[in-house]
Amino acid sequence: MPNVSPFAEILDADGIFLDKIYCANCIHCKLIKIAVGDGSQYYLRVRCDAGKWKKKLGEEKFYKYFTVARRSLESCEQYEPMGDLRDYLRDLKKSLPIKDEIYTY
Ligand code: SF4
Repeated sequence: MPNVSPFAEILDADGIFLDKIYCANCIHCKLIKIAVGDGSQYYLRVRCDAGKWKKKLGEEKFYKYFTVARRSLESCEQYEPMGDLRDYLRDLKKSLPIKDEIYTY
């Protein structure tokens, strides 16, 4: 059964659509590291471990971590919320980097 909020077409003061679900608040949205260069550095990416994010040819698609708060859907049968959406997204948006960063181990 799709998980659909009863709050249709409502945008709250933090810019969060209450009629949508956000992948960032789903247990299947996982943060991963992708090595770059000689392996001493990495990018942060997110993946859906339920296998919902695909490229046109069927390969798994990863998204840049700094964009994770933008991944929203009307519904998803695999959605498993991790907690209160608004509090979580508000805190997440404050902590996300503003661009794709390279990190060092
Ligand atoms: S299972 Fe659905 S809601 Fe959860 S991360 Fe994957 S696509 Fe997003």
